[in-house]
Amino acid sequence: MHMDTQTKRSILIVDDSPENLTVLGALLRTDYTIRVATDGEKALRIAQSGEPPDLILLDIMMPGVNGYEVCRRLKDDPRTESIPVIFLTAMTHERDEVKGFEAGAVDYITKPFSPVVVRARVRTHVELKCYRDFLVDTSYGDGLTAVPNRRRFEDYYAHIWKAPGQTAPVALIMIDVDHFKPFNDHYGHQEGDACLRAIAQELSGALNRKTDLFARYGGEEFVCLLPGTEAEGALQVAERFRAAVLALAIPHARSPVGDWVTISVGVAAAGSCAELSPRELVAHADEALYQAKAAGRNRVRLHDAEGARTGQGSGEDGAPLLTAASRDRP
Ligand code: GH3
Ligand code: MG
Ligand code: MG
Repeated sequence: MHMDTQTKRSILIVDDSPENLTVLGALLRTDYTIRVATDGEKALRIAQSGEPPDLILLDIMMPGVNGYEVCRRLKDDPRTESIPVIFLTAMTHERDEVKGFEAGAVDYITKPFSPVVVRARVRTHVELKCYRDFLVDTSYGDGLTAVPNRRRFEDYYAHIWKAPGQTAPVALIMIDVDHFKPFNDHYGHQEGDACLRAIAQELSGALNRKTDLFARYGGEEFVCLLPGTEAEGALQVAERFRAAVLALAIPHARSPVGDWVTISVGVAAAGSCAELSPRELVAHADEALYQAKAAGRNRVRLHDAEGARTGQGSGEDGAPLLTAASRDRP
């Protein structure tokens, strides 16, 4: 991972006066990608979009939602809370400024402004934002596979459980590469690392929802958290995972399961976070994974609350890509 210094950072300018937008846009356009909004609602929509800005220059007095309120809403939303906000306003009284900082702004500039001052403060806060992004990426990313790491998973998991009024279902998928020790012994650790990278990339790309999180749990184990998903949906994802790894067709000459690298997958689900503890859900997924291993690997198992864990899942008959000879082996 490295700091991205090439791409232009983007700034959202929010002001109900078109003249102000023109002047500020001209001032910052050479160094940043500029987006504009003439009211608070539009500003929030842009900030919450898939491509949020790196900094927001925010007017206070606007028709509709005023700047303070826009700032408060940005700070209350986990998707936008880390975007720095600088107020740029004609309101020069000290109590207005205090209110701005209380709403969560990082800076407050009064109009009429000095172009040099605006540029300098914007640069400072964009730089700080870059360092912050970099630190988050580094501490939350797995160095080998570039997918989120265990720490990121734990934090997100805790966050999902703590969300107020959490009544939605939640599902967890545990994944373990089959017979990976013999793979390393036969092909070497470099190949082992490449194999883990390929699997991580493939599986993290196989998720559809923005709220899903795929992470490396440790060693050759991965985990996938699916908020708002019931057992049935999670089973489908798990089966997609199993098939996707098989389709990578990574040769595994020492696997008793077949000619290619395979994974075993354990699935557990809860109707809501009130039903059981986060630890219990992980334990359930682990148990299901153990069942998948015991049943012959390269398969999916769902943890069943009644304790009968053999019923649902897939892969029982061996996957079509496996050779007949390998299937006969224990
Ligand atoms: P099982 O089917 O029961 O899961 O068998 P296994 O051999 O996969 O399980 P075991 O837990 O005995 O071995 C896991 C191996 O994964 C041990 C180690 O060689 C390998 N491994 C763990 N982390 C890494 C890694 O970061 N890189 C590489 N190359 N290998 C790793
Ligand atoms: Mg393991
Ligand atoms: Mg393993």
